[in-house]
Amino acid sequence: MNGSPIWHPFTQHGLNEPIPKIDRADGAALYSADGQRIIDAISSWWVTTHRHCHPTIMSAIAEQAVKLDQMIFAGWTHEPADSLARGLVDMMPASLTRVFYSDSGSTSVEVALKMALGFWANRDKPRHKIIVMEHSYHGDTIGAMSIGARGVFNRAYSPLLFDVETLPFPIPDNEQVCIDACERLCKEKPAALIIEPLLLGAGGMLIYSKTVLRALKDICDAHDVIFIADEVMTGWGRTGTLLACTQANVVPDILCLSKGLTGGAMPLAVTMANDAIFDAHYSTDRAKMFFHSSSYTANPIACAAANANLKIWNEEPVLERISDLTARQSALLSEIATHPLVANPRQIGTITAFEIMSDKNGYLSNIAPQLLRFFRERNLLIRPLGNTVYTMPPYCIDDDDLKTIYAALYEACECVKTGNLN
Ligand SMILES: *Cc1c(COP(=O)(O)O)cnc(C)c1O
Repeated sequence: MNGSPIWHPFTQHGLNEPIPKIDRADGAALYSADGQRIIDAISSWWVTTHRHCHPTIMSAIAEQAVKLDQMIFAGWTHEPADSLARGLVDMMPASLTRVFYSDSGSTSVEVALKMALGFWANRDKPRHKIIVMEHSYHGDTIGAMSIGARGVFNRAYSPLLFDVETLPFPIPDNEQVCIDACERLCKEKPAALIIEPLLLGAGGMLIYSKTVLRALKDICDAHDVIFIADEVMTGWGRTGTLLACTQANVVPDILCLSKGLTGGAMPLAVTMANDAIFDAHYSTDRAKMFFHSSSYTANPIACAAANANLKIWNEEPVLERISDLTARQSALLSEIATHPLVANPRQIGTITAFEIMSDKNGYLSNIAPQLLRFFRERNLLIRPLGNTVYTMPPYCIDDDDLKTIYAALYEACECVKTGNLN
């Protein structure tokens, strides 16, 4: 199409879909090279929290860039990483006292798994089993795929993925099945349970109850199973609170954060751990150190962006903005919920989702590419998961943009109904 040598992620180049070129962003919008304003209804794939190009973050990046660009982090340190680690320890639940840096959500998950396995290995009680929840998504590296839902995304690699134990998704009227499965599996001495708290994102924006989350944590505690919360997507206010776990009064042993850590401006991730996890690796024996690093661990410019994000959280009314957006989302969702093709309208904090009923469901459902095109033609960045449509805008979005999004969602439902979506 555009003759570029780029091989894009999650893109079938053989379908020759247009690939619009963006050259700047501001607030809740992207601007294309040919001057179109595109409303970013999904926060650029769930990363942009406050707004695009937040001046505090942009100037922190600019200042840091002329000072210290990049350096080795094994055995060396720098100010942006040090103040960020302190800031995170202050801001996150008190028992999470250690901050390990990496560069993406997937890596933060790999690190969490290795910490959990290392914990058991270093205490000479090796455990290897990981418990996961049905429909989970934790990233696209081999380890992260192993603990995520299996499907068309990973069929080619599935023989290499390691086995896990899977809890059935706790559908509202049948939560006990999930809780019972956790109880049974925890008796078999697994190393850890890893979970997306309250909301499974890529699995289809599936929401489950605080009660279940709390119950799973209690079971892990009772059986000495490490509880890992993957808040890569749910963190930084998306579900209404800084962390989703807080709503269930849950403090994980290990916490994964990425996407909104820099406000969505730079690639950076952390895996936070409590004293027990750190202490299991603390020794004069070099063989017990935590064997993980990547070249860009704690990149100073990315850390500066994250420090600016923490400053925004501390100085701006972020939670008020979030609760205001939550209320506006709720009003618009209840309007569109009256459309006959809208099924399972649901919301958690700033995120809303529903299914557009059509004869074919699932990720490769026929209407997904048509919907994508429909929204692209209307200058909206909305990327349905199969026939599941969701919105997750940056917190700065104004009423006009939000209403434009819902008007297009309604129109899309109408087109599906009348068979005019093509
Ligand atoms: C996006 C996501 C990841 C992976 O993060 P990347 O930065 O894309 O590697 C992991 N877990 C969850 C819950 C996510 O939503």
